Amino acid sequence: MKVIEKVEAIKQQEITATENLEQMYSTIEEKNDDINAFVQLDIEKARKTAEDIDKRIKNNEETGKLAGLVIGIKSNINVEDFIISAASPTLKNYYGSYNATVINRILDEDGVIIGLTNMDEFAAGSSTETSMYGPTNNPKAPGHIPGGSSGGSAAAIAANMCDITLGSDTGGSIRNPASHCGVMGFKPTYGMVSRQGLLDLAMSLDQIGPFANDTTGIGLMLNVICGYDPYDTTTINKQPEDFLKDTTNSTLEGQTIGVVKEFMDITDDKITSQINKSIDDMTSLGAEIKELSFEDINLGLPTYYLINYVEFFSATRKYDGRKYGERIEEVCGAEVARRIEIGSYISQKEFSGKYYNKALQARSLIRNEFNDLLNDVDVIAGPTVPKLPHKIGEEIETMDMYAYDVLTVLANITGIPASSMNSGLVDNIPVGLQLQAKPEDDHKILSTMSALENN
Ligand code: GLN
Repeated sequence: MKVIEKVEAIKQQEITATENLEQMYSTIEEKNDDINAFVQLDIEKARKTAEDIDKRIKNNEETGKLAGLVIGIKSNINVEDFIISAASPTLKNYYGSYNATVINRILDEDGVIIGLTNMDEFAAGSSTETSMYGPTNNPKAPGHIPGGSSGGSAAAIAANMCDITLGSDTGGSIRNPASHCGVMGFKPTYGMVSRQGLLDLAMSLDQIGPFANDTTGIGLMLNVICGYDPYDTTTINKQPEDFLKDTTNSTLEGQTIGVVKEFMDITDDKITSQINKSIDDMTSLGAEIKELSFEDINLGLPTYYLINYVEFFSATRKYDGRKYGERIEEVCGAEVARRIEIGSYISQKEFSGKYYNKALQARSLIRNEFNDLLNDVDVIAGPTVPKLPHKIGEEIETMDMYAYDVLTVLANITGIPASSMNSGLVDNIPVGLQLQAKPEDDHKILSTMSALENN
């Protein structure tokens, strides 16, 4: 059953919100010891919310757009009364004292928040192995990483533990785990969704977005979380149109899909051939394919990581042990320590010309070039991650770990919308198709996903 059909069924009292919740909860009870997607649950609170929704439906009272859907939230988004740890010992005792804007919007629409999901420490990773709660297992490829950093949110959807989850994406953290777990993940245009209440990794790159098993789940959640927020001045001051309209599309007639040669060239051959099948599907659906070239692909990772280090270093200065939890340097893991150390070094005034300013220049260059490419097409399609996920615990060099992000960081550097949906299996492991479009063309991405989904 699609997510939208479930909302309807709950409103029609064919199933109750309580039944939906208990069904999800029993799946969590059964599988979470193995998957480790959820790191905190508040079933009592969720039960009360579901009962209240059922009561209102019975009494013919209004209920919200998400009425009765079970929702999981990444552990770096503030939800009142949960520990908002970002999976770091730094914040292991830090209770959220307020709701992020996205959380208030979900609660206003009667979403049932069941708990918080696992992630890499402070979202700085691509494997969900650096969490203080231990790694998350990939439900679709057991023994392999689920991707990251929002690995718990992707795995929770892949294991049918909830209807929709939220993640955050700074350089791929929604799309990468969506790809490895075979689910849909959507990073909206920068500024489409409020970041108020999100613990920053790198604020000029961070964006909150949804995971679901079908486009109606993505569209429903985008309808709820997108829009202007006076508490986040980077939000776009324009009400987006209905995203559910995009989810009934079944054709790509009249659409031009760009395929970037360099994206395919750096990707493993088996993955590329799977992605080519999806591109063939797009042709059968009526799309015209246009080959594109992006020669500056090698600038993406250095530009991304320089900006990430500097902004992350600055964001962590508040974790000095006085107001929030522990002093970060004393308790954090190796990857977070590396970013703080290098971030502090390159943030020094005498080096800014050498590193940070260069990164900002490269950022403008990438933005201009990528936007030029997007001028000629509706959507760019290609692989999400160039490699298959490794086995949990396997030693991976830092640079190899960073290289997982080569295809996803560009959307954050440029601020454009991007998604991942399952293309198929390679060696029995899901592989994601990434779709990218011009800023504020989020609708085009969703309707393309819908055409492929309904194919
Ligand atoms: N893997 C990237 C990083 O470690 C992306 C993380 C993210 O998007 N939060 O910075």
